[in-house]
Amino acid sequence: MDVAIHPFVLKVMDALEKAGYRAYLVGGSVRDLLLNRQPKDWDIATDAHPPQVRALFERTAPTGEKYGTVTVLGDIPVEVTTFRKDGRYLDGRRPETVEFSSSLEEDLTRRDFTLNALACGRDGHVVDYVGGLQDLRHRIIRSVGDPGDRFREDALRMLRAHRLVAELGGDFHIEPRTLDAIAKNAHLILNVSWERIRDELVRILMSDNPGEIRHLYHSGILGHILPELAECYGFQQSSKHHDKDVFEHSVVALESAPRRLQVRLAALLHDVGKVKTMTIDESGEGHFYGHNVKSEEMARQAMRRLKFDVQTISSVCTLIREHMVRHSRLGPKGIKRLITRVGVPLLDDLFDLQIADVKASGHPNDLSQVLRLKARVDRVLASGDPLTVKDLAVDGRDLIEWGMEEGRGIGTVLRAMLDRVLDEPALNTKEGLRAVYEDLSRRAGSGRATSRRL
Ligand code: ATP
Ligand code: MG
Repeated sequence: MDVAIHPFVLKVMDALEKAGYRAYLVGGSVRDLLLNRQPKDWDIATDAHPPQVRALFERTAPTGEKYGTVTVLGDIPVEVTTFRKDGRYLDGRRPETVEFSSSLEEDLTRRDFTLNALACGRDGHVVDYVGGLQDLRHRIIRSVGDPGDRFREDALRMLRAHRLVAELGGDFHIEPRTLDAIAKNAHLILNVSWERIRDELVRILMSDNPGEIRHLYHSGILGHILPELAECYGFQQSSKHHDKDVFEHSVVALESAPRRLQVRLAALLHDVGKVKTMTIDESGEGHFYGHNVKSEEMARQAMRRLKFDVQTISSVCTLIREHMVRHSRLGPKGIKRLITRVGVPLLDDLFDLQIADVKASGHPNDLSQVLRLKARVDRVLASGDPLTVKDLAVDGRDLIEWGMEEGRGIGTVLRAMLDRVLDEPALNTKEGLRAVYEDLSRRAGSGRATSRRL
């Protein structure tokens, strides 16, 4: 092993053993060490009970004592958990009770997959009751015990299997009997909380192999957790711009997107509205007018279901709504309006989404439209021209000083001023805007139609 057990983890194991207890590294960290990957977290299993663990260390946090877990604090946090055998699973979500055990074997065989059921002693020797070492060598994800039973106990494991493939790499695959049991039990995923589903989905999207989503479709899980996307499978676009169906286009866009969650989510969902908006013209060409708006609406619904936070939902929705804007003919004012609609912090994500969209299309190398749009946006940003009401040289107080009454009219006038300033940035001085104000007031006085517009 090139990647070594962290010295502080060794220290914790040593302290447990000196006190007469057994201590093993277990779970994902053993798997990762054997694969020469840096473990994300370190889990130790022991026959000591939580109060005994707490008594041995100066600084601890009671992470989940009911479940046997104490976190030992030091150079890094280390989770120390008493050997367990899980009690009965009544609802396919969480064990109803956990029972402590004095047996390492019981603790290992309750775990989900053979490669996650390995233990490692302080001296580096590996304990394997379930053939995990061989499966690891052959790159196989296999349930410990009967896969159907294990998925009925906790349906999240089905999604975890796909997540492990996505994170560990394309040469990993789910063993056929295990995969078959996923297909048979896919509907049980709906017994799992959306938060747990979301966390695994996010890990798939943010992995090196987000294309694992394809297998999630084939095993039947995607249809339950993201039906909007599953319905795009095989949906032909009949379009000269596309050589893939909507599902495959979306997945390739996802694979082409940089590793930022909101870009990847937007890439995955940007076209889900196509199924609902397709029309075919006389020449047989498919069109999808307004699909960006429909996709936004469907994506919002999907992300709310998956309990994403409001910030992520809002950003992804903006990206999806604007993903087609590279096809619009925008004048200088249109560019400025685009910048304020999207917001400066989200612009790079928008261009990255558009690039991913192009790469997944029938003309994957034609980035000219995106790059032209980006250059125009960059020029406006560099010019320092005013873009929002906040950039105006006057504010509501000035308008009141000039004789306006407080109220909603103020905002309307400021926006009308901005409209002029977007065309003519030089007007953005106090004097210039005073002249605009007089002009707007005059027009408002001379006709109902104009006053309504004001
Ligand atoms: P990573 O640390 O990369 O997230 P992991 O495999 O360690 O991956 P954790 O969620 O940290 O995943 O779980 C730690 C260990 O607990 C797993 O390796 C596995 O042995 C066991 N485990 C986790 N979730 C389940 C589950 N739903 N059913 C059975 N065992 C599980
Ligand atoms: Mg872990």
